[in-house]
Amino acid sequence: MRPIIGVTTSVSEDEAVLQLNCTYTDALIAAGAAPILLPPTDSPTLIAQYAGMIDGLLLSGGGDVDPQLFGETQHWEIGAISPVRDAFELALCQAVLDKGTVPILGICRGLQVLNVALGGDLYQDLKADFPGKTLAHQQKQRSCHPSHPVSIAPNTMLHSILGQMEVMVNSHHHQAIRRLPEGFISTASAPDGVTEAAELLHHPFCMGVQWHPERLWDQCGCALHKRIFSAFVDATSLCKKDRL
Ligand code: MN
Repeated sequence: MRPIIGVTTSVSEDEAVLQLNCTYTDALIAAGAAPILLPPTDSPTLIAQYAGMIDGLLLSGGGDVDPQLFGETQHWEIGAISPVRDAFELALCQAVLDKGTVPILGICRGLQVLNVALGGDLYQDLKADFPGKTLAHQQKQRSCHPSHPVSIAPNTMLHSILGQMEVMVNSHHHQAIRRLPEGFISTASAPDGVTEAAELLHHPFCMGVQWHPERLWDQCGCALHKRIFSAFVDATSLCKKDRL
């Protein structure tokens, strides 16, 4: 049996439609997982059931995280916010973290959600808030083309997965991690200093990346991004449920 990876989705503005690019589920299927989508709910019982039935959690990309969740009011530069999605993902993230060994992978917004769930905060908008000029983190070319390098910190899980000190990544974000909570360490950064990946110490696999490996892994010259999904799916063996 393939490990079951729960994947969160975007919620349309009228809260009538769930949305997810197939690239997430394609990458998970190619890495040996059985992905399932987790519709948002505010039921603590259902959230606990989700956390108990999955072998891993993928927090997908999407709109902005509400700054109120880290004690700020919204700037003019804030993008679309889904209160339903924010509340669901934070509660689900907490429930899965409480399990202790269930692997979590956050992608783009997913990294930001993870950081807020653990007690950190975000730059609401890099252009407005980041000290100094940044690179173009909202690239103009398609996401199958990497646009900026990131330096990978040595002696990290990410480094052991990618096996390189520098990789090229795509970039579709205007928010980013500002303060990391204790125990959640930066594992990759762009040349301008923006945090591009982080992982939780003393956890078998809890990490996030600010880029979109699901849109790179099957592109020519970008195969090493597939290792992120392979390592994530492999890590589920640590908490595999007893299923036939
Ligand atoms: Mn970037």
